[in-house]
Amino acid sequence: MDTFKALGLEEDLLLAINDLGFTSPSEIQEKAIPQLLTTATDMVALAQTGTGKTAAFGFPLIQSLDIHSRTTQALILSPTRELCLQITNEIKLYSKYKKGLKTVAIYGGASITEQAKQIKKGAQIIVATPGRMKDMIGRRMVDISKIAYCVLDEADEMLNMGFYEDINSILSHTPDDKLTWLFSATMPKEVATIAREFMHKPLEITVGTKNSGSTNVQHEYYTVSGRDRYMALKRLADANPDIFSVVFCRTKRDTQKVAEKLIEDGYNAGALHGDLSQNQRDLVMKAFRNKQIQMLVATDVAARGIDVDDVTHVINYQLPDEIETYTHRSGRTGRAGKSGVSMVIVTKSELRKIKSIEKVIQKKFEVKQVPTGIEICEIQLYHLASKINQTEINESINPYLPAIYDVLQHMDKETLIQKMVAVEFDRFFKYYQKYPDLNKVDTSRVADSEGKNSTRYFINVGERDDFDWKSLKDFLKETLDLGRDDVYNVDVKESFSFFNTDNKHTDAILEFFTDFKLQGRFINVEISSNKGGRRSGRRRSKPKFKDNNNYRRKDKRRGKKSDNGKGKGKRRNR
Ligand code: AMP
Repeated sequence: MDTFKALGLEEDLLLAINDLGFTSPSEIQEKAIPQLLTTATDMVALAQTGTGKTAAFGFPLIQSLDIHSRTTQALILSPTRELCLQITNEIKLYSKYKKGLKTVAIYGGASITEQAKQIKKGAQIIVATPGRMKDMIGRRMVDISKIAYCVLDEADEMLNMGFYEDINSILSHTPDDKLTWLFSATMPKEVATIAREFMHKPLEITVGTKNSGSTNVQHEYYTVSGRDRYMALKRLADANPDIFSVVFCRTKRDTQKVAEKLIEDGYNAGALHGDLSQNQRDLVMKAFRNKQIQMLVATDVAARGIDVDDVTHVINYQLPDEIETYTHRSGRTGRAGKSGVSMVIVTKSELRKIKSIEKVIQKKFEVKQVPTGIEICEIQLYHLASKINQTEINESINPYLPAIYDVLQHMDKETLIQKMVAVEFDRFFKYYQKYPDLNKVDTSRVADSEGKNSTRYFINVGERDDFDWKSLKDFLKETLDLGRDDVYNVDVKESFSFFNTDNKHTDAILEFFTDFKLQGRFINVEISSNKGGRRSGRRRSKPKFKDNNNYRRKDKRRGKKSDNGKGKGKRRNR
Protein backbone atom coordinates (compact mmCIF):
# COMPACT_ATOMS: atom_id res chain seq x y z
CA MET A 1 0.00 0.00 0.00
CA ASP A 2 2.92 2.31 0.76
CA THR A 3 3.96 1.91 -2.85
CA PHE A 4 0.69 3.46 -3.98
CA LYS A 5 1.04 6.21 -1.41
CA ALA A 6 4.50 6.98 -2.76
CA LEU A 7 2.94 7.72 -6.15
CA GLY A 8 1.14 10.62 -4.50
CA LEU A 9 -2.33 9.12 -4.16
CA GLU A 10 -4.71 10.39 -1.48
CA GLU A 11 -6.30 8.51 1.38
CA ASP A 12 -9.71 8.05 -0.34
CA LEU A 13 -8.06 6.25 -3.20
CA LEU A 14 -5.70 4.24 -1.00
CA LEU A 15 -8.69 2.90 0.93
CA ALA A 16 -10.38 1.80 -2.29
CA ILE A 17 -7.13 0.26 -3.57
CA ASN A 18 -6.89 -1.65 -0.33
CA ASP A 19 -10.45 -2.95 -0.76
CA LEU A 20 -9.62 -4.04 -4.30
CA GLY A 21 -6.64 -5.99 -3.02
CA PHE A 22 -4.06 -4.33 -5.28
CA THR A 23 -0.73 -4.73 -3.52
CA SER A 24 1.60 -2.80 -5.79
CA PRO A 25 1.25 -0.52 -8.81
CA SER A 26 1.67 -1.96 -12.29
CA GLU A 27 4.35 -0.57 -14.60
CA ILE A 28 2.03 1.81 -16.44
CA GLN A 29 0.68 3.08 -13.13
CA GLU A 30 4.17 3.69 -11.79
CA LYS A 31 5.09 5.61 -14.91
CA ALA A 32 1.90 7.58 -15.45
CA ILE A 33 0.36 8.40 -12.07
CA PRO A 34 3.08 10.66 -10.54
CA GLN A 35 3.40 12.59 -13.80
CA LEU A 36 -0.33 13.09 -14.25
CA LEU A 37 -0.74 14.15 -10.62
CA THR A 38 2.03 16.71 -10.64
CA THR A 39 2.21 18.03 -14.20
CA ALA A 40 -0.53 19.54 -16.32
CA THR A 41 0.43 17.57 -19.40
CA ASP A 42 -1.00 15.73 -22.38
CA MET A 43 0.09 12.12 -22.57
CA VAL A 44 0.37 9.30 -25.10
CA ALA A 45 0.67 5.90 -23.45
CA LEU A 46 1.31 2.71 -25.37
CA ALA A 47 -0.13 -0.03 -23.26
CA GLN A 48 -2.10 -3.19 -23.88
CA THR A 49 -5.31 -4.12 -22.15
CA GLY A 50 -4.64 -5.88 -18.88
CA THR A 51 -1.71 -3.65 -17.91
CA GLY A 52 -3.78 -1.71 -15.38
CA LYS A 53 -4.20 1.31 -17.65
CA THR A 54 -7.70 2.19 -16.44
CA ALA A 55 -6.30 2.86 -12.99
CA ALA A 56 -3.28 4.62 -14.53
CA PHE A 57 -5.58 7.37 -15.79
CA GLY A 58 -8.47 6.74 -13.39
CA PHE A 59 -6.61 7.41 -10.13
CA PRO A 60 -5.15 10.80 -11.18
CA LEU A 61 -8.46 11.77 -12.73
CA ILE A 62 -10.46 11.01 -9.60
CA GLN A 63 -7.96 12.82 -7.43
CA SER A 64 -7.93 15.91 -9.64
CA LEU A 65 -11.66 16.49 -10.06
CA ASP A 66 -13.69 18.99 -8.06
CA ILE A 67 -16.39 16.90 -6.43
CA HIS A 68 -18.17 19.96 -5.06
CA SER A 69 -19.06 21.01 -8.58
CA ARG A 70 -21.58 19.01 -10.58
CA THR A 71 -20.20 20.20 -13.90
CA THR A 72 -18.90 17.51 -16.26
CA GLN A 73 -15.14 17.73 -15.94
CA ALA A 74 -13.85 14.59 -17.63
CA LEU A 75 -14.77 12.67 -20.77
CA ILE A 76 -13.45 9.18 -21.41
CA LEU A 77 -14.02 7.85 -24.93
CA SER A 78 -13.78 4.12 -25.52
CA PRO A 79 -14.46 2.01 -28.63
CA THR A 80 -17.10 -0.44 -27.40
CA ARG A 81 -20.00 -0.51 -25.06
CA GLU A 82 -18.44 -3.44 -23.17
CA LEU A 83 -15.29 -1.46 -22.54
CA CYS A 84 -17.32 1.63 -21.70
CA LEU A 85 -19.21 -0.28 -19.02
CA GLN A 86 -16.04 -1.86 -17.68
CA ILE A 87 -14.27 1.48 -17.37
CA THR A 88 -17.31 2.95 -15.63
CA ASN A 89 -17.39 0.05 -13.27
CA GLU A 90 -13.69 0.32 -12.46
CA ILE A 91 -13.91 4.09 -11.91
CA LYS A 92 -16.84 3.57 -9.55
CA LEU A 93 -14.81 1.04 -7.57
CA TYR A 94 -11.79 3.36 -7.44
CA SER A 95 -13.91 6.34 -6.34
CA LYS A 96 -15.90 4.40 -3.76
CA TYR A 97 -14.76 6.69 -0.93
CA LYS A 98 -14.95 9.88 -2.96
CA LYS A 99 -18.42 10.90 -1.87
CA GLY A 100 -20.20 13.10 -4.38
CA LEU A 101 -18.31 11.83 -7.43
CA LYS A 102 -20.64 10.57 -10.12
CA THR A 103 -19.64 8.60 -13.21
CA VAL A 104 -22.14 7.93 -16.01
CA ALA A 105 -21.75 5.57 -18.96
CA ILE A 106 -23.28 6.48 -22.28
CA TYR A 107 -23.33 4.01 -25.16
CA GLY A 108 -25.56 2.82 -27.98
CA GLY A 109 -28.21 0.15 -27.67
CA ALA A 110 -29.71 1.54 -24.44
CA SER A 111 -32.24 4.28 -23.71
CA ILE A 112 -30.80 7.68 -24.65
CA THR A 113 -33.34 9.56 -22.52
CA GLU A 114 -32.43 7.54 -19.46
CA GLN A 115 -28.75 8.31 -20.03
CA ALA A 116 -29.55 12.01 -20.52
CA LYS A 117 -31.46 11.95 -17.23
CA GLN A 118 -28.44 10.52 -15.42
CA ILE A 119 -26.18 13.21 -16.86
CA LYS A 120 -28.61 15.94 -15.92
CA LYS A 121 -28.35 14.92 -12.28
CA GLY A 122 -24.71 15.98 -12.52
CA ALA A 123 -21.90 13.67 -13.65
CA GLN A 124 -18.33 14.83 -13.21
CA ILE A 125 -17.09 11.91 -15.35
CA ILE A 126 -18.73 10.68 -18.55
CA VAL A 127 -17.52 7.44 -20.12
CA ALA A 128 -18.83 7.18 -23.67
CA THR A 129 -18.65 5.43 -27.01
CA PRO A 130 -18.06 7.94 -29.82
CA GLY A 131 -21.27 7.27 -31.78
CA ARG A 132 -23.67 7.81 -28.88
CA MET A 133 -21.63 10.75 -27.57
CA LYS A 134 -21.87 12.56 -30.88
CA ASP A 135 -25.57 11.82 -31.02
CA MET A 136 -26.14 13.29 -27.55
CA ILE A 137 -24.09 16.39 -28.28
CA GLY A 138 -26.22 16.89 -31.40
CA ARG A 139 -29.36 16.67 -29.28
CA ARG A 140 -27.91 18.99 -26.65
CA MET A 141 -28.32 16.32 -24.02
CA VAL A 142 -24.79 16.75 -22.77
CA ASP A 143 -22.40 19.65 -22.23
CA ILE A 144 -18.68 18.97 -22.49
CA SER A 145 -17.63 22.55 -23.05
CA LYS A 146 -16.03 22.82 -19.62
CA ILE A 147 -14.17 19.56 -19.35
CA ALA A 148 -10.64 19.68 -17.98
CA TYR A 149 -9.65 16.15 -19.00
CA CYS A 150 -10.28 13.97 -22.04
CA VAL A 151 -9.13 10.36 -22.15
CA LEU A 152 -9.03 8.49 -25.46
CA ASP A 153 -8.88 4.83 -24.50
CA GLU A 154 -7.89 2.13 -27.01
CA ALA A 155 -7.43 4.87 -29.58
CA ASP A 156 -6.20 2.44 -32.23
CA GLU A 157 -9.37 0.39 -31.91
CA MET A 158 -11.56 3.48 -32.11
CA LEU A 159 -9.84 4.57 -35.30
CA ASN A 160 -10.00 1.08 -36.75
CA MET A 161 -13.71 1.09 -36.18
CA GLY A 162 -14.01 4.25 -38.24
CA PHE A 163 -14.60 6.68 -35.36
CA TYR A 164 -12.12 9.30 -36.56
CA GLU A 165 -14.79 11.71 -37.76
CA ASP A 166 -16.85 11.25 -34.61
CA ILE A 167 -13.86 11.84 -32.35
CA ASN A 168 -12.94 14.91 -34.35
CA SER A 169 -16.43 16.28 -34.05
CA ILE A 170 -16.69 15.49 -30.32
CA LEU A 171 -13.36 17.16 -29.55
CA SER A 172 -14.47 20.31 -31.35
CA HIS A 173 -17.00 20.78 -28.54
CA THR A 174 -14.33 20.66 -25.85
CA PRO A 175 -12.16 23.54 -24.58
CA ASP A 176 -8.66 23.98 -25.99
CA ASP A 177 -7.00 24.06 -22.60
CA LYS A 178 -8.17 20.62 -21.47
CA LEU A 179 -5.57 17.90 -20.97
CA THR A 180 -5.76 14.89 -23.28
CA TRP A 181 -4.50 11.46 -22.30
CA LEU A 182 -4.40 8.90 -25.10
CA PHE A 183 -4.02 5.17 -24.56
CA SER A 184 -3.37 2.77 -27.38
CA ALA A 185 -2.03 -0.78 -27.74
CA THR A 186 -0.37 0.00 -31.06
CA MET A 187 0.87 3.17 -32.71
CA PRO A 188 -0.26 3.16 -36.33
CA LYS A 189 -0.01 6.34 -38.40
CA GLU A 190 -3.60 7.30 -37.62
CA VAL A 191 -3.00 7.38 -33.87
CA ALA A 192 0.15 9.43 -34.35
CA THR A 193 -1.95 11.84 -36.43
CA ILE A 194 -4.51 12.20 -33.64
CA ALA A 195 -1.72 12.86 -31.17
CA ARG A 196 -0.30 15.51 -33.46
CA GLU A 197 -3.62 17.17 -34.22
CA PHE A 198 -5.24 17.20 -30.83
CA MET A 199 -2.43 17.20 -28.33
CA HIS A 200 0.25 19.56 -27.17
CA LYS A 201 3.74 18.16 -26.60
CA PRO A 202 2.42 14.94 -25.09
CA LEU A 203 4.49 13.02 -22.62
CA GLU A 204 5.18 9.56 -24.06
CA ILE A 205 5.03 6.38 -22.03
CA THR A 206 5.51 2.85 -23.34
CA VAL A 207 4.81 -0.34 -21.47
CA GLY A 208 6.12 -3.48 -23.19
CA THR A 209 7.27 -3.22 -26.79
CA LYS A 210 6.04 -0.67 -29.24
CA ASN A 211 3.82 -1.78 -32.09
CA SER A 212 4.34 -5.48 -31.53
CA GLY A 213 1.44 -7.82 -31.23
CA SER A 214 1.11 -9.81 -28.05
CA THR A 215 4.26 -11.85 -27.41
CA ASN A 216 2.22 -14.71 -26.03
CA VAL A 217 0.76 -15.45 -29.42
CA GLN A 218 2.13 -18.07 -31.77
CA HIS A 219 1.37 -17.32 -35.43
CA GLU A 220 0.77 -20.21 -37.83
CA TYR A 221 -0.44 -20.57 -41.37
CA TYR A 222 -1.97 -23.42 -43.34
CA THR A 223 -1.91 -23.41 -47.14
CA VAL A 224 -4.94 -24.96 -48.81
CA SER A 225 -6.84 -24.48 -52.03
CA GLY A 226 -9.64 -21.89 -51.83
CA ARG A 227 -12.42 -24.45 -52.03
CA ASP A 228 -11.02 -26.37 -49.05
CA ARG A 229 -11.10 -23.45 -46.61
CA TYR A 230 -14.10 -24.72 -44.73
CA MET A 231 -12.80 -28.29 -44.55
CA ALA A 232 -9.52 -26.98 -43.21
CA LEU A 233 -11.35 -24.95 -40.57
CA LYS A 234 -13.17 -28.06 -39.40
CA ARG A 235 -9.95 -30.01 -39.14
CA LEU A 236 -8.29 -27.28 -37.12
CA ALA A 237 -11.25 -27.41 -34.75
CA ASP A 238 -11.24 -31.21 -34.57
CA ALA A 239 -7.53 -31.26 -33.87
CA ASN A 240 -8.12 -28.94 -30.89
CA PRO A 241 -10.97 -30.51 -28.95
CA ASP A 242 -10.96 -27.81 -26.27
CA ILE A 243 -10.84 -24.91 -28.68
CA PHE A 244 -12.38 -21.62 -27.57
CA SER A 245 -11.96 -19.45 -30.59
CA VAL A 246 -12.85 -16.44 -32.67
CA VAL A 247 -13.01 -17.23 -36.38
CA PHE A 248 -12.62 -14.15 -38.57
CA CYS A 249 -14.28 -13.81 -41.95
CA ARG A 250 -14.09 -10.84 -44.29
CA THR A 251 -17.77 -10.25 -44.97
CA LYS A 252 -21.02 -10.46 -43.02
CA ARG A 253 -22.29 -12.98 -45.56
CA ASP A 254 -19.33 -15.32 -45.14
CA THR A 255 -19.54 -14.94 -41.38
CA GLN A 256 -23.16 -16.03 -41.35
CA LYS A 257 -22.53 -18.83 -43.85
CA VAL A 258 -19.55 -20.32 -42.03
CA ALA A 259 -21.33 -20.17 -38.66
CA GLU A 260 -24.41 -21.85 -40.09
CA LYS A 261 -22.36 -24.61 -41.67
CA LEU A 262 -20.47 -25.23 -38.44
CA ILE A 263 -23.71 -25.45 -36.50
CA GLU A 264 -25.12 -27.85 -39.09
CA ASP A 265 -22.00 -29.97 -38.72
CA GLY A 266 -22.49 -30.22 -34.98
CA TYR A 267 -20.05 -27.61 -33.66
CA ASN A 268 -20.92 -25.16 -30.90
CA ALA A 269 -20.69 -22.12 -33.12
CA GLY A 270 -22.32 -18.69 -33.38
CA ALA A 271 -22.19 -15.68 -35.71
CA LEU A 272 -21.43 -12.08 -34.74
CA HIS A 273 -21.82 -9.35 -37.35
CA GLY A 274 -23.43 -6.01 -37.98
CA ASP A 275 -26.64 -7.35 -39.52
CA LEU A 276 -27.69 -8.77 -36.17
CA SER A 277 -29.71 -6.67 -33.76
CA GLN A 278 -28.05 -5.47 -30.55
CA ASN A 279 -30.18 -7.98 -28.71
CA GLN A 280 -29.06 -10.87 -30.90
CA ARG A 281 -25.45 -9.79 -30.52
CA ASP A 282 -25.81 -9.65 -26.74
CA LEU A 283 -27.20 -13.17 -26.70
CA VAL A 284 -24.35 -14.51 -28.83
CA MET A 285 -21.76 -12.78 -26.66
CA LYS A 286 -23.37 -14.13 -23.51
CA ALA A 287 -23.27 -17.67 -24.91
CA PHE A 288 -19.63 -17.17 -25.91
CA ARG A 289 -18.64 -15.86 -22.49
CA ASN A 290 -20.36 -18.85 -20.89
CA LYS A 291 -18.47 -21.11 -23.32
CA GLN A 292 -21.68 -22.52 -24.76
CA ILE A 293 -20.23 -21.27 -28.02
CA GLN A 294 -16.74 -22.64 -28.72
CA MET A 295 -16.31 -21.06 -32.14
CA LEU A 296 -17.47 -17.49 -32.55
CA VAL A 297 -17.46 -16.56 -36.23
CA ALA A 298 -17.17 -12.79 -36.53
CA THR A 299 -16.47 -9.84 -38.78
CA ASP A 300 -13.68 -7.49 -37.77
CA VAL A 301 -15.99 -4.66 -36.83
CA ALA A 302 -18.32 -6.80 -34.72
CA ALA A 303 -15.40 -8.51 -33.00
CA ARG A 304 -14.07 -5.25 -31.61
CA GLY A 305 -16.54 -5.64 -28.79
CA ILE A 306 -15.17 -9.01 -27.73
CA ASP A 307 -13.53 -8.66 -24.37
CA VAL A 308 -12.91 -12.24 -23.36
CA ASP A 309 -9.63 -13.22 -21.79
CA ASP A 310 -9.28 -16.93 -22.41
CA VAL A 311 -9.66 -17.28 -26.17
CA THR A 312 -7.31 -20.15 -27.06
CA HIS A 313 -7.24 -19.70 -30.85
CA VAL A 314 -7.91 -16.97 -33.35
CA ILE A 315 -8.60 -18.45 -36.76
CA ASN A 316 -8.26 -16.21 -39.78
CA TYR A 317 -10.67 -18.01 -42.10
CA GLN A 318 -9.76 -15.31 -44.60
CA LEU A 319 -7.01 -12.75 -44.20
CA PRO A 320 -8.16 -9.17 -43.65
CA ASP A 321 -7.75 -6.57 -46.39
CA GLU A 322 -5.78 -4.28 -44.10
CA ILE A 323 -2.66 -5.81 -42.64
CA GLU A 324 -2.98 -3.74 -39.46
CA THR A 325 -6.28 -5.51 -38.82
CA TYR A 326 -4.38 -8.77 -38.38
CA THR A 327 -2.79 -7.35 -35.21
CA HIS A 328 -6.22 -6.63 -33.79
CA ARG A 329 -7.46 -10.09 -34.68
CA SER A 330 -4.52 -11.94 -33.19
CA GLY A 331 -4.71 -9.72 -30.11
CA ARG A 332 -8.02 -11.40 -29.22
CA THR A 333 -5.96 -14.33 -27.92
CA GLY A 334 -2.92 -14.41 -25.64
CA ARG A 335 -4.55 -11.88 -23.32
CA ALA A 336 -4.11 -11.38 -19.60
CA GLY A 337 -0.84 -13.27 -19.44
CA LYS A 338 -2.22 -16.37 -21.17
CA SER A 339 -0.80 -17.81 -24.36
CA GLY A 340 -2.68 -18.24 -27.60
CA VAL A 341 -2.42 -19.29 -31.21
CA SER A 342 -3.37 -17.26 -34.25
CA MET A 343 -3.98 -19.52 -37.25
CA VAL A 344 -4.31 -18.33 -40.83
CA ILE A 345 -5.89 -20.38 -43.59
CA VAL A 346 -4.33 -19.13 -46.84
CA THR A 347 -4.27 -20.02 -50.49
CA LYS A 348 -1.01 -20.03 -52.40
CA SER A 349 -1.80 -16.72 -54.05
CA GLU A 350 -2.16 -15.04 -50.64
CA LEU A 351 1.20 -16.16 -49.33
CA ARG A 352 2.88 -12.83 -49.99
CA LYS A 353 0.44 -11.27 -47.53
CA ILE A 354 1.94 -13.48 -44.84
CA LYS A 355 5.32 -11.87 -45.48
CA SER A 356 3.83 -8.38 -45.17
CA ILE A 357 2.15 -9.32 -41.91
CA GLU A 358 5.41 -10.71 -40.56
CA LYS A 359 6.97 -7.30 -41.16
CA VAL A 360 4.22 -5.55 -39.23
CA ILE A 361 4.10 -7.93 -36.28
CA GLN A 362 7.85 -8.44 -36.35
CA LYS A 363 7.43 -12.14 -35.84
CA LYS A 364 7.75 -15.19 -38.08
CA PHE A 365 4.83 -17.44 -38.84
CA GLU A 366 5.19 -21.17 -38.41
CA VAL A 367 4.32 -23.09 -41.55
CA LYS A 368 1.87 -25.78 -40.52
CA GLN A 369 0.13 -28.66 -42.21
CA VAL A 370 -3.61 -29.12 -41.88
CA PRO A 371 -3.97 -32.23 -39.71
CA THR A 372 -4.83 -35.40 -41.60
CA GLY A 373 -7.83 -37.48 -40.68
CA ILE A 374 -5.73 -40.08 -38.90
CA GLU A 375 -3.94 -37.42 -36.85
CA ILE A 376 -7.29 -36.05 -35.77
CA CYS A 377 -8.46 -39.53 -34.80
CA GLU A 378 -5.35 -39.94 -32.68
CA ILE A 379 -5.84 -36.60 -30.94
CA GLN A 380 -9.52 -37.29 -30.31
CA LEU A 381 -8.68 -40.70 -28.92
CA TYR A 382 -6.18 -39.33 -26.41
CA HIS A 383 -8.62 -36.59 -25.58
CA LEU A 384 -11.39 -39.07 -24.87
CA ALA A 385 -9.13 -41.25 -22.72
CA SER A 386 -8.05 -38.30 -20.62
CA LYS A 387 -11.62 -37.09 -20.35
CA ILE A 388 -12.68 -40.49 -19.03
CA ASN A 389 -9.78 -40.39 -16.61
CA GLN A 390 -10.81 -36.99 -15.29
CA THR A 391 -14.55 -37.52 -15.19
CA GLU A 392 -16.07 -37.16 -11.76
CA ILE A 393 -18.74 -39.75 -11.23
CA ASN A 394 -22.22 -38.44 -10.67
CA GLU A 395 -23.83 -40.65 -8.03
CA SER A 396 -27.20 -40.39 -9.75
CA ILE A 397 -26.12 -42.99 -12.27
CA ASN A 398 -25.81 -45.66 -9.53
CA PRO A 399 -29.35 -47.06 -9.84
CA TYR A 400 -28.75 -47.80 -13.53
CA LEU A 401 -25.40 -49.45 -13.10
CA PRO A 402 -26.53 -53.02 -12.23
CA ALA A 403 -28.38 -53.30 -15.52
CA ILE A 404 -25.42 -51.84 -17.42
CA TYR A 405 -22.99 -54.24 -15.69
CA ASP A 406 -25.32 -57.00 -16.75
CA VAL A 407 -25.01 -56.07 -20.39
CA LEU A 408 -21.26 -55.62 -20.32
CA GLN A 409 -20.13 -58.22 -17.78
CA HIS A 410 -18.92 -60.82 -20.27
CA MET A 411 -16.19 -58.46 -21.52
CA ASP A 412 -12.72 -58.28 -20.05
CA LYS A 413 -11.26 -54.87 -19.14
CA GLU A 414 -9.17 -54.50 -22.33
CA THR A 415 -12.10 -55.27 -24.64
CA LEU A 416 -14.33 -52.91 -22.72
CA ILE A 417 -11.85 -50.05 -23.02
CA GLN A 418 -11.27 -50.85 -26.66
CA LYS A 419 -14.97 -50.77 -27.45
CA MET A 420 -15.62 -47.68 -25.42
CA VAL A 421 -13.04 -45.55 -27.19
CA ALA A 422 -13.89 -47.14 -30.54
CA VAL A 423 -17.29 -45.47 -30.35
CA GLU A 424 -15.65 -42.06 -30.61
CA PHE A 425 -12.78 -43.14 -32.82
CA ASP A 426 -15.10 -44.62 -35.43
CA ARG A 427 -17.09 -41.43 -35.71
CA PHE A 428 -14.04 -39.45 -36.79
CA PHE A 429 -12.39 -42.33 -38.63
CA LYS A 430 -15.38 -43.01 -40.84
CA TYR A 431 -15.82 -39.33 -41.59
CA TYR A 432 -12.20 -38.63 -42.41
CA GLN A 433 -11.63 -41.82 -44.37
CA LYS A 434 -13.62 -40.22 -47.16
CA TYR A 435 -11.51 -37.09 -47.40
CA PRO A 436 -8.06 -36.50 -48.82
CA ASP A 437 -5.14 -34.50 -47.49
CA LEU A 438 -5.95 -30.80 -47.84
CA ASN A 439 -2.48 -29.33 -47.82
CA LYS A 440 -1.21 -27.29 -50.69
CA VAL A 441 2.43 -27.19 -49.77
CA ASP A 442 4.21 -23.87 -49.55
CA THR A 443 7.45 -25.34 -50.84
CA SER A 444 9.38 -22.15 -50.19
CA ARG A 445 9.03 -22.43 -46.46
CA VAL A 446 8.24 -25.99 -45.45
CA ALA A 447 10.37 -26.79 -42.52
CA ASP A 448 11.84 -30.17 -42.09
CA SER A 449 9.51 -30.46 -39.12
CA GLU A 450 7.08 -32.12 -41.48
CA GLY A 451 9.74 -34.18 -43.21
CA LYS A 452 11.61 -37.40 -42.80
CA ASN A 453 14.34 -36.02 -40.57
CA SER A 454 11.90 -35.04 -37.88
CA THR A 455 10.12 -37.04 -35.18
CA ARG A 456 6.86 -36.11 -33.56
CA TYR A 457 6.21 -37.12 -29.99
CA PHE A 458 3.23 -37.46 -27.71
CA ILE A 459 3.70 -36.36 -24.09
CA ASN A 460 1.11 -36.81 -21.36
CA VAL A 461 1.14 -33.26 -19.99
CA GLY A 462 -0.91 -30.34 -21.20
CA GLU A 463 -2.80 -27.21 -20.23
CA ARG A 464 -4.18 -28.91 -17.17
CA ASP A 465 -0.62 -29.05 -15.87
CA ASP A 466 -0.25 -25.32 -16.49
CA PHE A 467 1.70 -25.70 -19.70
CA ASP A 468 1.29 -23.66 -22.82
CA TRP A 469 3.34 -24.08 -26.00
CA LYS A 470 5.96 -21.69 -24.75
CA SER A 471 6.46 -23.12 -21.29
CA LEU A 472 6.38 -26.72 -22.55
CA LYS A 473 9.01 -25.88 -25.13
CA ASP A 474 11.16 -24.31 -22.42
CA PHE A 475 10.56 -27.24 -20.09
CA LEU A 476 11.65 -29.75 -22.74
CA LYS A 477 14.67 -27.70 -23.76
CA GLU A 478 15.81 -27.33 -20.17
CA THR A 479 15.06 -30.87 -19.07
CA LEU A 480 16.61 -32.49 -22.13
CA ASP A 481 19.41 -29.96 -22.37
CA LEU A 482 18.55 -29.09 -25.96
CA GLY A 483 19.29 -25.95 -27.96
CA ARG A 484 17.03 -23.00 -28.70
CA ASP A 485 15.47 -24.39 -31.88
CA ASP A 486 15.73 -28.10 -31.17
CA VAL A 487 12.14 -28.46 -29.98
CA TYR A 488 9.49 -27.25 -32.41
CA ASN A 489 5.87 -27.63 -33.51
CA VAL A 490 4.77 -27.76 -29.89
CA ASP A 491 1.03 -28.28 -29.76
CA VAL A 492 -0.48 -28.27 -26.29
CA LYS A 493 -3.92 -29.82 -25.74
CA GLU A 494 -5.79 -29.95 -22.49
CA SER A 495 -4.10 -32.95 -20.89
CA PHE A 496 -1.53 -34.02 -23.45
CA SER A 497 0.68 -32.43 -26.08
CA PHE A 498 2.78 -33.06 -29.16
CA PHE A 499 6.18 -31.78 -30.14
CA ASN A 500 8.90 -32.39 -32.72
CA THR A 501 12.65 -32.75 -32.65
CA ASP A 502 15.10 -33.83 -35.31
CA ASN A 503 15.56 -37.59 -35.49
CA LYS A 504 19.05 -37.42 -34.05
CA HIS A 505 17.58 -36.64 -30.62
CA THR A 506 14.94 -39.38 -30.64
CA ASP A 507 16.84 -42.18 -28.92
CA ALA A 508 18.11 -39.93 -26.18
CA ILE A 509 14.65 -38.47 -25.58
CA LEU A 510 12.88 -41.83 -25.36
CA GLU A 511 15.64 -43.08 -23.14
CA PHE A 512 15.41 -40.05 -20.88
CA PHE A 513 11.68 -40.37 -20.41
CA THR A 514 11.74 -44.11 -19.69
CA ASP A 515 11.68 -43.45 -16.00
CA PHE A 516 11.15 -39.75 -15.70
CA LYS A 517 9.03 -38.73 -12.75
CA LEU A 518 7.99 -35.32 -11.51
CA GLN A 519 6.53 -35.16 -8.05
CA GLY A 520 5.73 -38.83 -8.18
CA ARG A 521 4.12 -38.83 -11.59
CA PHE A 522 5.50 -40.61 -14.66
CA ILE A 523 5.94 -38.33 -17.63
CA ASN A 524 5.26 -40.45 -20.63
CA VAL A 525 6.73 -39.66 -24.05
CA GLU A 526 6.00 -41.73 -27.12
CA ILE A 527 6.54 -41.38 -30.83
CA SER A 528 3.32 -40.16 -32.36
CA SER A 529 1.81 -41.25 -35.63
CA ASN A 530 0.96 -37.60 -36.01
CA LYS A 531 2.58 -35.65 -38.84
CA GLY A 532 6.31 -35.68 -39.26
CA GLY A 533 6.65 -38.68 -37.03
CA ARG A 534 7.74 -42.09 -38.07
CA ARG A 535 6.05 -45.14 -36.74
CA SER A 536 8.31 -47.04 -34.50
CA GLY A 537 8.20 -50.36 -32.81
CA ARG A 538 9.51 -48.74 -29.67
CA ARG A 539 6.16 -48.02 -28.10
CA ARG A 540 6.61 -48.22 -24.40
CA SER A 541 4.32 -50.02 -22.12
CA LYS A 542 4.18 -47.52 -19.30
CA PRO A 543 0.56 -46.76 -18.54
CA LYS A 544 -0.65 -43.44 -19.91
CA PHE A 545 -3.08 -41.02 -18.38
CA LYS A 546 -1.97 -41.43 -14.83
CA ASP A 547 -3.57 -39.26 -12.26
CA ASN A 548 -2.99 -35.70 -13.32
CA ASN A 549 -3.72 -34.14 -10.00
CA ASN A 550 -0.59 -35.01 -8.15
CA TYR A 551 1.63 -33.58 -10.83
CA ARG A 552 3.28 -30.29 -10.11
CA ARG A 553 5.94 -28.65 -12.14
CA LYS A 554 9.34 -27.94 -10.72
CA ASP A 555 9.34 -25.19 -8.14
CA LYS A 556 11.49 -23.06 -10.35
CA ARG A 557 8.84 -23.09 -13.05
CA ARG A 558 5.99 -22.60 -10.68
CA GLY A 559 7.67 -19.51 -9.32
CA LYS A 560 7.91 -18.12 -12.82
CA LYS A 561 4.27 -18.73 -13.50
CA SER A 562 2.91 -17.17 -10.35
CA ASP A 563 5.07 -14.09 -10.76
CA ASN A 564 3.28 -13.58 -13.99
CA GLY A 565 -0.13 -13.43 -12.48
CA LYS A 566 0.74 -11.54 -9.34
CA GLY A 567 1.81 -8.21 -10.69
CA LYS A 568 -1.57 -7.69 -12.28
CA GLY A 569 -3.65 -9.14 -9.47
CA LYS A 570 -7.36 -9.38 -10.13
CA ARG A 571 -8.08 -9.15 -13.82
CA ARG A 572 -10.99 -7.78 -15.66
CA ASN A 573 -12.87 -10.55 -17.37
CA ARG A 574 -12.84 -9.33 -20.91
P1 AMP B 1 -6.90 -2.70 -17.30
O1 AMP B 1 -5.57 -2.82 -17.98
O2 AMP B 1 -7.19 -1.34 -16.86
O3 AMP B 1 -7.97 -3.30 -18.15
O4 AMP B 1 -6.85 -3.55 -15.93
C1 AMP B 1 -6.88 -4.94 -15.86
C2 AMP B 1 -7.29 -5.44 -14.50
O5 AMP B 1 -6.24 -5.28 -13.56
C3 AMP B 1 -8.51 -4.75 -13.89
O6 AMP B 1 -9.40 -5.75 -13.43
C4 AMP B 1 -7.97 -3.96 -12.71
O7 AMP B 1 -8.90 -3.94 -11.65
C5 AMP B 1 -6.74 -4.75 -12.33
N1 AMP B 1 -5.67 -3.92 -11.79
C6 AMP B 1 -5.37 -2.65 -12.12
N2 AMP B 1 -4.31 -2.22 -11.41
C7 AMP B 1 -3.91 -3.23 -10.61
C8 AMP B 1 -2.86 -3.38 -9.64
N3 AMP B 1 -2.00 -2.42 -9.38
N4 AMP B 1 -2.78 -4.57 -9.01
C9 AMP B 1 -3.64 -5.55 -9.28
N5 AMP B 1 -4.64 -5.47 -10.18
C10 AMP B 1 -4.78 -4.33 -10.86
